[in-house]
Amino acid sequence: MPKPTVLCIAGSDPYGGAGIQADLKSVHALGGYALTCVTALTAQNSQGVFCSQATSATLLRSQVTTLLDDMVVDAVKIGMLANAELIEVVAEIICNYQLSNVALDTPIISSSGHPLLEKDAIETLKQRLLPLATVITPNLPEVNSLLGKDVNDGYQGTDDEMPTIGKEFFELGVQAVVVKGGHIQSQDLVTDTLLQADADAIRFSSPRILTQHTHGTGCSFSSAMACLLAKGIPLDLAVKQTKQQMQQWLSQSDQLHLRYLDNQKPRKEPLLHL
Ligand code: PLP
Repeated sequence: MPKPTVLCIAGSDPYGGAGIQADLKSVHALGGYALTCVTALTAQNSQGVFCSQATSATLLRSQVTTLLDDMVVDAVKIGMLANAELIEVVAEIICNYQLSNVALDTPIISSSGHPLLEKDAIETLKQRLLPLATVITPNLPEVNSLLGKDVNDGYQGTDDEMPTIGKEFFELGVQAVVVKGGHIQSQDLVTDTLLQADADAIRFSSPRILTQHTHGTGCSFSSAMACLLAKGIPLDLAVKQTKQQMQQWLSQSDQLHLRYLDNQKPRKEPLLHL
């Protein structure tokens, strides 16, 4: 049997915790094979993202179609898309090649505050890509940006909002949403909620792991989901297994040799201006 193959379309994180580098690691850890098409180069480190530059539409189209003309892919993971032009390219390719098992992460802004998607591209993302995804995996701030909401009132309130959040996404043509609950700080439990148009909401809860190593968890989550879908695992089970896997990865984060460990200050200024 050929290896389950996941086409990852995302930005590059040279620091290795997010983006295409995270996708490669999580797909390989779960026994799949990752193809990697880069939408943007970034400069980042443990302090955050300092700058980024999107690739051209032509180069992204060429990266992806060169692979798809040669290989069968079993799932797609989509991460940072940077701008509306690149969203159009990805939407066009999903349709032309009839790609299935599409896990769409929706990164809009990094935890450190750097934009990963131009503001005026949010509408294009909603119109062109959300309806083509098998599942989208926004965190709460991304739900708010996509739906123009302000849901942030702790777990109980958020839980009550889920039917409305689901309804508004389904009206946009979304098939399924996993609302990731890691940003809701008020609980010892972290609950991710799977919303599907034709089924009851399913909640997946696990104890919060207290760690600073959360950079790129959204990227690893969606690529793990894509890999499990590539293996033919049904969506609800794929969410459950992804969550269990994330728990394990978060509790085993690597300690890296950062400058502060040697009592040196991190450089806060970008080394490179594009
Ligand atoms: N860099 C890239 C290329 C990303 O795709 C993402 C998130 O999707 C980030 C950085 C931000 O990671 P975080 O906000 O988890 O630090």
